[in-house]
Amino acid sequence: MKKLEQMYEGKAKKVFATEDPDLVIVDYKDDATAGDGAKKGTIRGKGVVNNKLSNNLMKMLEEKGVPTHFVEELSDRETLVKKVEIVPLEVIVRNVAAGSFSKRYGVAEGTKFQSPTLEFSYKNDDLHDPLINHYHALALGLATQEELDTISQYAFQVNEILSAYLLQFNIRLIDFKLEFGRLADGTIVLADEISPDTCRFWDATTGAHLDKDLFRRDLGGEEEAYQEVMKRLLG
Ligand code: UDP
Repeated sequence: MKKLEQMYEGKAKKVFATEDPDLVIVDYKDDATAGDGAKKGTIRGKGVVNNKLSNNLMKMLEEKGVPTHFVEELSDRETLVKKVEIVPLEVIVRNVAAGSFSKRYGVAEGTKFQSPTLEFSYKNDDLHDPLINHYHALALGLATQEELDTISQYAFQVNEILSAYLLQFNIRLIDFKLEFGRLADGTIVLADEISPDTCRFWDATTGAHLDKDLFRRDLGGEEEAYQEVMKRLLG
């Protein structure tokens, strides 16, 4: 499948058209941003890690019944995916308090929840992706009730499957962000990526961060951490 014109460039990926109107090619970059774009940098090799990890996880989820946009890995950084219209919601699932949850609700990082949580942020850079509730999303026509139900169900299903899968590699899934899209016929599928950019991964023994928090918080060692996650999952 040939890359045609670039349709979009985001913070971490570029998207290209193909000869098939229902398929696009995603190209993962090493660029990293944090703090709403205030911090910019690169994490060497990140694009390769995120491409391969995300593909691996999407394939696994698909086999377990969660429909995804994944079609075929084309190269280290490029993947053929189904073209979707992104639902403008960041869907965040949490098992353990961290990051913005800890700050907002005054709960110490690392506090394990009695049950997983689900929240939505409105994907809107100008507004800095504000927290939004279900009724707001309906009122603004961002998604239908049926779509929100489907998305919520898939998000918790992904959490169950991913948490168990990662634990085999001694990784604790703290929280993560998903994005969903609509195919041409309206079917909701999991889209975007699942990677150390979009998940908090903690070593299950030491609690060490194996994710983008190393970059966000200037802790260092992010390149090594991304490689470590890839090594554990993909050998
Ligand atoms: N997240 C993301 N993109 C965002 C915001 C959050 O992928 O724009 C992920 C983040 O990696 C973490 C989870 O969503 O795994 C929850 O993030 P949180 O709301 O705690 O925000 P943060 O503290 O990262 O600002």
